[in-house]
Amino acid sequence: MKLGQMRWRFWLGAIALLGWMSMTGWAEAGNSTNEKLKVYFIDVEGGQATLFVTPASQSLLIDTGWGGNEGRDADRIAAAVKGAGLMRIDYVLITHFHEDHVGGAAQLLDRVPVGAFIDHGVNREEEPSVERGYAAYEKLIATSRTKRILAKTNDVLPIVGIKAQVVSADGKVIQKPLEGGGAANPYCKGAETPEVDTTENARSVGVHITFGKVKLLDLGDLTKDKEMELVCPANKLGKVDIYIVSHHGWNHSSSAAMVDALGARVAIMNNGAKKGGSPSVLDTVLNAPGMESLWQLHYSEEGGEDHNTDDALIANLNGQENGNFLELTVASNGSFDVLNSRTGETKHYVAARESIH
Ligand SMILES: [Zn+2]
Repeated sequence: MKLGQMRWRFWLGAIALLGWMSMTGWAEAGNSTNEKLKVYFIDVEGGQATLFVTPASQSLLIDTGWGGNEGRDADRIAAAVKGAGLMRIDYVLITHFHEDHVGGAAQLLDRVPVGAFIDHGVNREEEPSVERGYAAYEKLIATSRTKRILAKTNDVLPIVGIKAQVVSADGKVIQKPLEGGGAANPYCKGAETPEVDTTENARSVGVHITFGKVKLLDLGDLTKDKEMELVCPANKLGKVDIYIVSHHGWNHSSSAAMVDALGARVAIMNNGAKKGGSPSVLDTVLNAPGMESLWQLHYSEEGGEDHNTDDALIANLNGQENGNFLELTVASNGSFDVLNSRTGETKHYVAARESIH
């Protein structure tokens, strides 16, 4: 064979191999095996602070916990940021303007640089403490010159590595179902009609997050009246794998019509010892179809022995205020793990055999 012919055959072979690799998804599969989403459920004693870190090392913090307490919550968030190997937070989403969600923003900015804040727009609750909290937040954004992004329903947040779609904001909810959603919801039958909530809770920015084959839902403190708009008569949210229990597990949220329709395998509740963790919500979540585990940041005193989840799945036991956290690691193939920082134990969840979502 002449040299020219050999070169020609070599290039033909190389082109065929590359074509085969892209056709079979070989190149993507090779990249994705090590790609993991980390989610840190930081204990802020009955508020919210949930840190998402994508394989691209981009970060999204949902809420900043409480202010005061000598920066307790901001210190805990900063420790999680450091533990994740980050120097800054790209996006801080403020679900709504209550103190247990936005209160820690100034102390956080003192400790960790933030790329941008995301929220639903102006505060609409005429309660002096909420108005004061909102004014402080607006001032913080102005003085720190931090970018502010308005979240509207259907928006996809700019974070790289996950798809975080806004399903509720400023009292509005999505009108069109998400991909995989839209089926009639049998659990609406006989469901009570909840009272209309006029507080900031009902204006919470809720996000539906997709990473690989895994879907997560975080609705902030969204109330039952808005939940019904999302899941009845048709379930616009579809099914999810992981439900971040709304409103710290308080009984103004997590209607059975929604929780049962979500079909989550795992629920994680950011309750405090004396805040959230209502017995009825603990029962609803634990008894939901397909539910494998409920994890709690705290033992709920109100829940008592009859309603709390297993001790092994609780980060802070009765009487503890140690700030233990829960850490979720999601692999893009659909398997995931939850670590309890109190025990050092991890529970593994195998990937669902087939994606029914
Ligand atoms: Zn709250």
